[in-house]
Amino acid sequence: MTTLEQTKIRFWGGLRTIGGTIVTVEYKDSRVVFDFGLKYDPSTNFFDGQLKLRTTSIVKDYLRLGMIPKIDGLYSEQDLAGEEGVVPAELDKRETAVIISHIHLDHIGAMGTIAPEIPVYLTSDSLKLYRALDTVGEGVPGNRNYQSCDYEQSFNVGEITITPIPVDHDTLGACAFHIQTPDGSILYSGDLRLHGKYPERIEQMIEKAKERSFDVLIMEGTTLNSVEVHREPLVPSKELPENLLTETLIPSKMVSVLEEANGIGCFNIYNRNIDRLEGILEAGKNSKRTVVFEPETAYLVSSFLPESEFAIFLSSGTKEEMKNGKLLEWKKALFERYETLDAVQINESPSRYFMQNSYEHTMEIFDLNVENGVYIHSNGVPLGDFDPSYQNLKNFLKRIGIDHVLVGTSGHAIPNHLQYILDELDPDFLIPLHSFHPERLIPRRGRQVLPEYGVTYVLKNHELTIQ
Ligand SMILES: [Zn+2]
Ligand SMILES: [Zn+2]
Repeated sequence: MTTLEQTKIRFWGGLRTIGGTIVTVEYKDSRVVFDFGLKYDPSTNFFDGQLKLRTTSIVKDYLRLGMIPKIDGLYSEQDLAGEEGVVPAELDKRETAVIISHIHLDHIGAMGTIAPEIPVYLTSDSLKLYRALDTVGEGVPGNRNYQSCDYEQSFNVGEITITPIPVDHDTLGACAFHIQTPDGSILYSGDLRLHGKYPERIEQMIEKAKERSFDVLIMEGTTLNSVEVHREPLVPSKELPENLLTETLIPSKMVSVLEEANGIGCFNIYNRNIDRLEGILEAGKNSKRTVVFEPETAYLVSSFLPESEFAIFLSSGTKEEMKNGKLLEWKKALFERYETLDAVQINESPSRYFMQNSYEHTMEIFDLNVENGVYIHSNGVPLGDFDPSYQNLKNFLKRIGIDHVLVGTSGHAIPNHLQYILDELDPDFLIPLHSFHPERLIPRRGRQVLPEYGVTYVLKNHELTIQ
């Protein structure tokens, strides 16, 4: 037996960070890479909003900043432009494919850097959403084609078989992957939660994964806190604690906040959460307020919730674009179809509106009458204290005199739910990652493996060992 005839697993990112998970699974001349995002940490991010990305040398620059790993056979010769220590895709004889569990930036942020001849697979829901985001200028750097795959439809990369299984997460199209080689199989959870709109998807994923059987579970643990804070072992439970706001309860919570305000309602969301967009529309309807979206989000709503009624905000910047004939085609089409409102019109009766205000458009609030108004922060950036921009937003809202109210919920399972999902899956080998404290996730029967970078793990005859 040569060492080639084994399944080799290597970890390149995301072991002790939130996101930036990059894992390779290799069997003979076949290789699968999942996911391909950038780690999420606004306080240490090189691109702080001021530093500009050079679109002419993204791969080289990202490699030098350590934002993407030096993986052979993944980047094109042209993009590497002589960068040493990495074999270009053109010179690598392996058959490689990249598979993406969902389209959050910590999972897709660097997918545009991959050589054009290497297929990058997204579920068809993810791809549809990605294309819409790309249209409105919210795609990732780099320009390439993407391939689609479908839930429960297995496909092959050489001798490796991949099956996407849907999960619930706070973005459309999220999936887990079942990855099978002749040596055994791996289940990669992607990001998931049990308090979303579709908890049954998690139960079904557990069932489907067990039907297919697997040896190694690679699972996210975003919500795990340090042992100093919580010394108790995690209790496996799928109960929803009373203080946990579910995706389904968000609209009614927003309605009660809006009913207390006699002025305008503003909201800040992450627009690729289509369930949340639906929730916003529901909150608008039940509080008898017209929902006003920024054009980019309006485009997503018109694509994914086409029956909805809403208006589009005309900022002074957009009006300028119209005046100068610089309005982009997608905006033009949108403005023909939906009602548009500017600040003057909204100020005639602010309490009739529930209006989007993204962090980057915070200055638009200056044009609005915010007396007795409320700013509902619902998981839009900046997400929290760990982001230096968060204090900036708080200062701004305080200065302008509008109440800042948090009504949101995470896309990640709470610790007890993680333990429940893990216990139900009951793997022989567990590799927790996408977490600051992966060691807290302990399987009830199988072995916990906390991998290291630069080490090759071998799956042979359904056993996981270090090479
Ligand atoms: Zn993530
Ligand atoms: Zn995610």
